[in-house]
Amino acid sequence: MVSKSSSNPLEKLGLHSSLDCALHLPIRYEDETKLSTIASVINSFGISTAQVQGYVIRQKVMFRPRRQLLVVIRDDHGGELFLRWLNFYPSQQKQMAVGQHLRVRGDVRDGYYGPEMVHPTVKAVSPDAPLPSTLTPVYSATAGVSQLSIRKAIDKAFKDANLEALFAEILPQDILKKCFPSLTLPSLWSAIHTLHHPSKSDDMESIQNRTHPAWRRIQIEELLAQQISLQQARAKRLSRQAIQMNLKPKKDGILEKFLDQLPFQLTGAQERVWQEVLQDLARAYPMNRLLQGDVGSGKTIIAALSAMHCIDHGYQAAIMAPTEILAEQHYRKLAAWLLPMGIQPVWLTGSLKAKEKRDAQALIANGQGQLVIGTHALIQEGVQFSRLGLAIVDEQHRFGVKQRLQLQQKIDDVEIDCHQLMMSATPIPRTLAMTFYADLEVSVIDELPPGRTPVITKLVKNERREEVVLGLSEELKKGRQVYWVCPLIEESEVLQLQTAVDTYQALQTAMPDVRVGLVHGKLKSDEKNAVMQAFVAGEIQVLVATTVIEVGVDVPNASLMVIEHAERFGYSQIHQLRGRVGRGSAQSICILLYSPQLSLAAKERLQTLKETQDGFVIAEKDLALRGPGELLGSKQSGDAMLRFVDLQNEHDLIEKTKDLSVQLLSFYPEVTQKHLERWLGHRADFLKA
Ligand code: ADP
Ligand code: MG
Repeated sequence: MVSKSSSNPLEKLGLHSSLDCALHLPIRYEDETKLSTIASVINSFGISTAQVQGYVIRQKVMFRPRRQLLVVIRDDHGGELFLRWLNFYPSQQKQMAVGQHLRVRGDVRDGYYGPEMVHPTVKAVSPDAPLPSTLTPVYSATAGVSQLSIRKAIDKAFKDANLEALFAEILPQDILKKCFPSLTLPSLWSAIHTLHHPSKSDDMESIQNRTHPAWRRIQIEELLAQQISLQQARAKRLSRQAIQMNLKPKKDGILEKFLDQLPFQLTGAQERVWQEVLQDLARAYPMNRLLQGDVGSGKTIIAALSAMHCIDHGYQAAIMAPTEILAEQHYRKLAAWLLPMGIQPVWLTGSLKAKEKRDAQALIANGQGQLVIGTHALIQEGVQFSRLGLAIVDEQHRFGVKQRLQLQQKIDDVEIDCHQLMMSATPIPRTLAMTFYADLEVSVIDELPPGRTPVITKLVKNERREEVVLGLSEELKKGRQVYWVCPLIEESEVLQLQTAVDTYQALQTAMPDVRVGLVHGKLKSDEKNAVMQAFVAGEIQVLVATTVIEVGVDVPNASLMVIEHAERFGYSQIHQLRGRVGRGSAQSICILLYSPQLSLAAKERLQTLKETQDGFVIAEKDLALRGPGELLGSKQSGDAMLRFVDLQNEHDLIEKTKDLSVQLLSFYPEVTQKHLERWLGHRADFLKA
């Protein structure tokens, strides 16, 4: 066992026991088995990491442009290579004294003096020191923990005589074989052993790219734990009670009245989705439905109809949105629809005065508040619903798993659960839907309301800003409105604010007859609202904004959006922002201003955004780039992520493991329980949301 003292840096990595150590599998491997000649790596630099060795022939500390250590080595074949360190210790200078023989590993690139390695890994070895015969595992580490100490801890764990027993086979071999006929899977113990200590006979490539049977075994184990836990959560949900509503709108209820005077005709997709929701609400167990639809597809009306149906049945409905502006929009829209029918929505956000908050909480607790709309404040202390029947969460991915659970727990009644409707404009890629969202029914609004024309996206170099301002005036002459989004400056809110203020002033100066407004995160909420209101009312023609307008804002007359330094935004941020225009019937344009020094990734991102408006394509790209954590809105529960499965490429494995879990649950329920405990332990809770 590894020592349990809290000063032990290994504890920070969660390595408390031999079991933890054994499950701390390498994040990658280094191939130190081959040595290249310097001449050959110089000719292929930029392509891959290389290992060379040679004698130090020169060492120099340089001061231009800043203090740095330069070392030159020469190998037996006469090739010479520069090694460079931007910070270094005297001990390194000693280690690399002239005449020393070094083995060096790093990326070769074209430096100022010629081909060089910057901050390579260096070992002082004798020229005939043997090379490792197998791959060297690399572990994820935190500050203060070296690879060496992790390796030591893992080696020690493998000396623990009890370790093997902890990995005893529990999965029935016959079912495993049946589900994965094309794989020859090693035992769990042997898989773990192989991945920490690959041997000469193991195929290096498949170990490195995680397709080796040992990896497959681990991936199946991990996915299986997730599938089992999701299916259990589902079974549990189906056994819970929720209020059972009628399939048809109540006679003379508010829903019926509203449907009679609907402000527009539902699209085919909206109608279909509405029927799906109605079916769910008519069941005796809680709904858990995700409503997906691109920005502007018209999700709000579905939320409104569901809430009215719920109110007609004598229960409360709540709508929670991630930002105050978005919540406010819902509030305004729903109040306009509901007030004529005698229903006053309750407004609850963090920025209310203490007395207003108390009043709102009282209405929620005594049941007089039939519809409650707000932000995170809805799940904070002091809020208790009298009889919540339906919880609607907008932009659900912006909330953590835990927060979504909390809303459901805000009901007095422990017997009755509320139905949940989640809405999202960020489509869920298929693999995510099969894994993390397996207990969600999904409805998709895949049709935009009539009369929309797709937004044209243009990439424009920052230098051509002035032309953009001219074009903007043209748009304004047609009576249209414009968003001007300021660059994202993640490191500094102050700087971001400053940029927005500067832009605001510059635009005002450039167009003195135009009414320009400014909205940013530092405004008080009533100030923010005043500005947004003025924009909605058309009093403001150009709205300069930081990303606070990201979600939900609905001004159909706005037909042009300029996004500055678009290269700093992620895929879905731009997609969401762009969704603010193209909401009316006019041709809308989104201009992505970029500065010319683009990274390759940024170039690809902007190009994709220019070419497609398809939220699914964009979401897949986003998943590839950022991993599932962000899309799931569960960064804070990072340990519930799949650690070994690459969600991009494993449809097939996921599908088959799902089969496996179904079979185990029906034929070997006791095995599933053991499996869960082994793989999830305390983390199981997070997967149940
Ligand atoms: P989102 O899915 O992005 O939340 P909204 O619900 O805000 O979209 O709807 C976008 C706009 O489209 C709103 O102005 C809304 O009133 C309008 N809308 C929604 N459904 C229809 C429809 N069936 N016909 C016409 N307009 C619609
Ligand atoms: Mg919306």
